[in-house]
Amino acid sequence: MQTRRKPDWLKMRPPSGQRFTEIKRTLRDRDLHTVCEEANCPNLGECWSGRNGPGTATFMLMGDRCSRGCNFCDVRTGGMEPLDPEEPANVAEAVAEIGLDYVVLTSVDRDDLPDQGADHFARTIREIKERDPGVLVEVLIPDFRGEEDLVREIIEAEPDVIAHNVETVERLQWPVRDRRAGYEQSIGVLEQVERESDIHTKTSLMLGLGEYEHEIYQTLSDLREADVDIVTLGQYLQPSLSHLDVFEYVHPDAFETWRRVAEDELGFLYCASGPMVRSSYKAGELFVDALLREGKTVEEARAVARATAR
Ligand code: SF4
Repeated sequence: MQTRRKPDWLKMRPPSGQRFTEIKRTLRDRDLHTVCEEANCPNLGECWSGRNGPGTATFMLMGDRCSRGCNFCDVRTGGMEPLDPEEPANVAEAVAEIGLDYVVLTSVDRDDLPDQGADHFARTIREIKERDPGVLVEVLIPDFRGEEDLVREIIEAEPDVIAHNVETVERLQWPVRDRRAGYEQSIGVLEQVERESDIHTKTSLMLGLGEYEHEIYQTLSDLREADVDIVTLGQYLQPSLSHLDVFEYVHPDAFETWRRVAEDELGFLYCASGPMVRSSYKAGELFVDALLREGKTVEEARAVARATAR
């Protein structure tokens, strides 16, 4: 299919500035990975340079090679390295050195490990919290193949937000995601967190992969049925010609309509929705920060997040 020309609303400024250089040096000094770099996130420049706040990065744990191969994702597949036992402490040190008060941790999937990396992930949360209990920690976790004991290891490490991405509507799970991923399995992970803890839950959907409106609505409804608190919707962007084609560039007005449906009609605490919104870009950190750190009401926290995210 002919590659579509990107509309103007998808243009981003390249990374630059002192803050960007500082963060890059801190990461390289400790041999740390970020999903920002590994997934070639278009927002890296804005996030790292702190144009919208102190500057942030999403740490990617357990190496830069994934045991899975989702057809939308630019992270390399196969050839996984053994875990770096120093990584949890190195991440905590980098957080302190960069001066982050809100940290997002994610990881590749490690189906090759007996516990799929659950203990390593949990130790990283604890290292950060032990070093500074005031840091808010959001984790974007794998599905751990739906194994409740492994999900519980993350819950018991007490991060502030547990995110797991459903990524797309049920009909498109394959070919968008690796065959080991699944709609019910992913919603099951979020539902378990809601059932077993007070930790806020979050998920993300990509639009522009060929989904129908009624399918988006059904997915949002299923997520609310599982009591998921926060949802983000962003435009799928093709990382390379060997990845899935973009079926459609969804207009910003449509994203705004979905935001209103998600919050006003379906009752999500917060919905970040826009072409450039990603799991951890303009994706609710400010909302969670206002809610948890400043003790604001949902309405007040939404207002804070909206005012800053513009
Ligand atoms: S599980 Fe899929 S989306 Fe996640 S890093 Fe691996 S290939 Fe990418």
